[in-house]
Amino acid sequence: MPRCAFCGADVEVIDRVGRLDECPSCKRDLHACLQCRLYERSAHNQCRESQSGYVTDKERANFCEFFQFGRDVERETEDVNAAKKKLEGLFK
Ligand SMILES: [Zn+2]
Repeated sequence: MPRCAFCGADVEVIDRVGRLDECPSCKRDLHACLQCRLYERSAHNQCRESQSGYVTDKERANFCEFFQFGRDVERETEDVNAAKKKLEGLFK
């Protein structure tokens, strides 16, 4: 089950997340960049979708049409580990 990026609570998504939906646990917006699969801190506009418009507040609900709820937090951790290993390799 996808999780809320703010509080880590399981969020049951029926069909899809609407712009006005909020986390049942922490009441924060679900349709926000930080909750999106495409969110990537290091990417241009912090989004992997290059055609999406710039969103100023990543924590608030947006109008993005590319939004996909459910951030892959584990994958992100893997990326960080891989980057760290790369860095370590440089100093050997
Ligand atoms: Zn939450």
